[in-house]
Amino acid sequence: MDNQLLVSLAEKYGSPLYVYDAEKIISQYNRITNAFANVKSLKLNYAVKANTNVSILKLFKKLNSGIDTVSIQEVQLGLKAGFEPENIIFTPNGVSLEEIEEVAKLGVQINIDNISILEQFGHHYPNIPVCVRINPHIMAGGNHKISVGHIDSKFGISIHQVPLIKRVVENTGMLINGIHTHTGSDILDIDVFLAASEIILNEAKDFPNLDFIDFGSGFKVPYKEGDVSTNIEELGERLTTRFNKFCKNYGKDLTLMFEPGKFLVSEAGKFLANVNVVKQTTSTVFASIDSGFNHLVRPMMYDSYHHIHNVSNPNGRERYYSVVGYICETDTFGSNRRISEIREDDVLCFDNAGAYCFSMASNYNSRFRPAEVLIYEGQDYLIRKQESFEDLLKNQVIIDLE
Ligand SMILES: *Cc1c(COP(=O)(O)O)cnc(C)c1O
Repeated sequence: MDNQLLVSLAEKYGSPLYVYDAEKIISQYNRITNAFANVKSLKLNYAVKANTNVSILKLFKKLNSGIDTVSIQEVQLGLKAGFEPENIIFTPNGVSLEEIEEVAKLGVQINIDNISILEQFGHHYPNIPVCVRINPHIMAGGNHKISVGHIDSKFGISIHQVPLIKRVVENTGMLINGIHTHTGSDILDIDVFLAASEIILNEAKDFPNLDFIDFGSGFKVPYKEGDVSTNIEELGERLTTRFNKFCKNYGKDLTLMFEPGKFLVSEAGKFLANVNVVKQTTSTVFASIDSGFNHLVRPMMYDSYHHIHNVSNPNGRERYYSVVGYICETDTFGSNRRISEIREDDVLCFDNAGAYCFSMASNYNSRFRPAEVLIYEGQDYLIRKQESFEDLLKNQVIIDLE
């Protein structure tokens, strides 16, 4: 998506605006399937929490992807997009037995991440096969808030409790049809990923009724020049060899699953915002945009880096800026960034805005959430309207205090 196109889209649909490039999503999807082309049965389940727009889900449906969901509402959005229940996996954390039962009744594959629910589910539904989420306690990089494999993590059933899983299975007569692990976001090191896989495979061999093994995600994408990203091709080669050997010993061709979110959609998204004010203080030049952490919370929440460029003036003289939002508290998108000269009314573009950006947006400060546009085969499609004042009032019950 070139600068001119982005400026014209911001004009056409209004600012701020999310824009997604279907071509980039498709090429990332194909990168993984090509990397694992030598696995007999491969299944990708797009982790929908990264970006839940139903038109994006429909694109994944078209690619033959399944989806990974973490709430019954995500399951329902997936069904709305046309996914068959058998192409949906439900991987919640700490949700109620009732919600899990409701999802199971829809025919969706259940993935359970604690012994308490496993036992209760097994008592009530010994005939519904479930997957178990195992925590191998491997530290796999990333920000501490998104690193989920460590010993104190709330995610998964500890690898040390596998004997207890086996006891529950035996006592209830339930069936374990899948083993899952998700060691967290931002895997830099393929060796770490393979070490975790080894631990999981070593346990998987003792579960006789498996149909699949799900290695989760955490594939890293580059955020700035020189960033390391997951070498998916190398991972594909090495894990394929290991997985095929496992299947041979196990005596069955299991399905190898992944559930990437960020890897598939992060780079496809751009966030566009207009500059309202350029303000010079004694120490800093601020560029204030018509948005804030209500629309893009990742920099404030995880210190994530989003490359910022001035698409209205890409060849201007470069200067140092702090790009800030309009929320009435600290609201910084980037400090001390070298950006080509910013003038009021210029459009700034934030990269890596396809994952965990719109899906984390809120109405804080009573602002409308922005519109979303998908570029598909050279055409731009509005896939979500900007909110309106009615949306802010929609669920408020205004009582009469007279
Ligand atoms: C969020 C999540 C993912 C996706 O993680 P990414 O880093 O976006 O690829 C995969 N699996 C589970 C269980 C998740 O909760």
